[in-house]
Amino acid sequence: MPENNSLLKPVFFFLFILVFSNADNVFAQKEYAKKILDTLCSEHFDGRGYVNKGDVRAADFLISELKNIGAKELGENSMEQPYIFNVNTFPYSIYFALEDDTLIPGADYILDPTSGTAGGEFEVMELNSENFYSVYGGKISFGKEDLEQKIIVFNFTDVTDKDKLKTLRGYANESMNYFPTVWVTRTKKTYSVGRSQKNYPLVELDSAAYNSPQKISLQINNKYESKYQSKNVIASIPGKKKNKFVVFTAHYDHLGRMGTDTYFPGANDNASGCAMLLSLAKYYTENPPEFTTVFCFFSGEEAGLVGSNYFVNHPYFKLNKVKFVMNIDIMGAADKGITVVNGSVHEAQFNRMVEINTAKNYIPEVKKRGAAANSDHHFFSEAGVPAFFIYSMGSVTNYHDIFDTAENTPLHKFDEVQSLIIDFVATIK
Ligand SMILES: [Zn+2]
Repeated sequence: MPENNSLLKPVFFFLFILVFSNADNVFAQKEYAKKILDTLCSEHFDGRGYVNKGDVRAADFLISELKNIGAKELGENSMEQPYIFNVNTFPYSIYFALEDDTLIPGADYILDPTSGTAGGEFEVMELNSENFYSVYGGKISFGKEDLEQKIIVFNFTDVTDKDKLKTLRGYANESMNYFPTVWVTRTKKTYSVGRSQKNYPLVELDSAAYNSPQKISLQINNKYESKYQSKNVIASIPGKKKNKFVVFTAHYDHLGRMGTDTYFPGANDNASGCAMLLSLAKYYTENPPEFTTVFCFFSGEEAGLVGSNYFVNHPYFKLNKVKFVMNIDIMGAADKGITVVNGSVHEAQFNRMVEINTAKNYIPEVKKRGAAANSDHHFFSEAGVPAFFIYSMGSVTNYHDIFDTAENTPLHKFDEVQSLIIDFVATIK
């Protein structure tokens, strides 16, 4: 860069703003959080699921980061808590074509997570509102008979009644035991993790891509892992009161890969929550906490809260010594504020959080919700440990799809939410 004194002025101005905003008592970590997001969501980690051991490699990254920060082991000489569970995966190349039109996984279609294996060219048997009620009398019973090498397409995009759709989807799920199956849909496609496997695959297909073909070709192979070894990552920062605990939790797993070409980055869900926990760990190493502060990075959340359930059943300390659990899941953009699950269960604590936010003017809204079994706080709550689950409300709505990327996740109000959490934890007696 050429020497130029005029460049200095904006630099000084920038420094002034930095100093000024620090004086505002916000622990500014957004840049660090962004780096964590970029790393965890990169293809290297394969969507932090159970193909190519993406989860295990993400766990190892978190451990090295925690060690760099200066967090300590809580287990016996290790931050790893291994456990085993069963999971259905799609590690192989997948292919799906309507006649000669090859479709794009993730964008045009997703697989039902309990999909089995099928390959070849199949004659289409379409069920729709016209023939389903007139020809089949609104009922189907499946059997092998003369339907070999057929694929059943459920094309009911005209049906809006929720109960009717549910019944129809039930038939589609049953169909997976006998035939490759297609479910044509106009609603958002939301991928997830399956714990069981059916005989054949089900493809959830975007109605915009469906062209009523005569033939469908596909190659879809699942791999069922009956003893998959995953691990939770548990670290701590000793407090002045060593044997009382404040526990932060966030799941680091996501949906992994769906075939060799598609992975789900899971930035908002929940690399953002992991970034929050790492950033809090940084804060508490610099500002020693009152109570021993524990950071639990769980896997298996998307497979049904498996990792957190394991930890609650195999905790490293007595759960009645836990003052409070804060689970962070989805922290990608809090421009509209946060929702606090269990806010109406622990009313006094919730009110305290609202008071802090009002006084400090961190975020637009702190909203309460009742109990919900929708993230890793759940089994702590069931065990009688007071817990909040906090998620952000704002401009990011990508969820369980290929669009939940680091670049689509702005981390609005990340520092403010973090400061609110720090202030709130400081009031715990
Ligand atoms: Zn999540």
